Amino acid sequence: MSFNKAFTDLVNAFTKFPGVGRRSAERMAYYLLKMPLSQVKDLAVKMEELHNHIKPCRICNNFSSGDACHICADVKRDKDVVCIVEEPKDIMAIEKTSSYNGIYYVLLGRISPLEGVYGEELNLGKLISRLEKGEVSEVIISTDPDNEGELTAQYLIEKISPYKVKIYRIAIGIPLGTQIEYIDSVTLGKALVERRLV
Ligand SMILES: [Zn+2]
Repeated sequence: MSFNKAFTDLVNAFTKFPGVGRRSAERMAYYLLKMPLSQVKDLAVKMEELHNHIKPCRICNNFSSGDACHICADVKRDKDVVCIVEEPKDIMAIEKTSSYNGIYYVLLGRISPLEGVYGEELNLGKLISRLEKGEVSEVIISTDPDNEGELTAQYLIEKISPYKVKIYRIAIGIPLGTQIEYIDSVTLGKALVERRLV
């Protein structure tokens, strides 16, 4: 394989990472070229190990090294209260607030008509099955306060309303267009505590 092809293939692969543009991808590829082969191999092994050992939690889709993630497996958490978030990183943001003692449900995406993602593509199956079994008394919709998050929240309300469960939304009094992960812990904690019934 020619250098050009090998280099371009790698750069193209790096540009698929969130927030990595072509320039950054090229810098990463050059950096890899300068690394000793042993380190490159070590990196490849670490990436493979991450994939092999981390799986979606069987209950909530959070990253997990076991069958259930550390939050779902924690006996001290209220299993009938479920906070719905878009991505696992949102869980980290909410956990930092220390204001929440329920469990989570990760959609692993959000509705985005511009990107061709609609409600049917959200991973709702495991949540609906818990709702059907009557295992949930309260859900708190914590999608991002932006257009896609709002569309996703409306879709969730529509899907969850038929079940006997209280539906709340976090009370975010901040401008539209931000993401859960960028909201400071105090504001996010307050938004959770002051959640509004839908
Ligand atoms: Zn879990």
